[in-house]
Amino acid sequence: MKLYLASGNAHKVAELQALADASRLPVQIMAATVVGGMQVVVEDAGTFAGNAGKKALALLPRLPAGAWALADDSGICVDALDGHPGVESAYFAGPQGDAAANLAKLVHVMRDVPDERRGAHFRCVLFLAGPGGERHVFEGRCPGRLRREPRGGAGFGYDPLFVPDGFAETYAELGDAVKNQISHRAQAWQKLAREFFAPRKTRISPREIPGRR
Ligand code: IMP
Repeated sequence: MKLYLASGNAHKVAELQALADASRLPVQIMAATVVGGMQVVVEDAGTFAGNAGKKALALLPRLPAGAWALADDSGICVDALDGHPGVESAYFAGPQGDAAANLAKLVHVMRDVPDERRGAHFRCVLFLAGPGGERHVFEGRCPGRLRREPRGGAGFGYDPLFVPDGFAETYAELGDAVKNQISHRAQAWQKLAREFFAPRKTRISPREIPGRR
């Protein structure tokens, strides 16, 4: 099954494809470029789910007949900033959406915040829109804390600053293989995989239960 991703972010396409492959689903994540690119969508809904819905529904009419649109709206919510930048993560440093400037701004505004108040979490909402009016929403979160200086070269966005709970390294140091097991996007995808691609219930014969005679 092809899912057309309502995004111009190549990192999201790659991460979602890796997640689909890891869940052994026959899903191909199609970049919006194959249908002429993602049009500008004003992300003003005020919630991750609202913005994700706007993006998926903007792309849907441009897809081949019968196709499904997938949108990912995500961001980092910082405790000491009352949950900001949150839904504004992509535009934290200005409307141009410059990832390096966003990261530098977060380093700057957090510079005097003590270690014990550096908690943050990433959130991701995946929104699936089908050709028959179907709508499905899945959310994932990953709690952690912010370093003072960026570290690591993998991933994108705020990855070099975010250390997920249970680890000493940033998302960007851990790399894709680890990130894709624990991330906000991975958790949202796993819900989608479980609830949307519901596994067939298989009946196990008593003879197949290990140890049973
Ligand atoms: P969106 O494309 O409008 O959903 O904006 C998401 C923004 O949140 C991105 O531009 C990044 O700044 C940030 N973000 C979302 N997910 C991640 C991630 O996995 N790593 C790092 N930054 C992320």
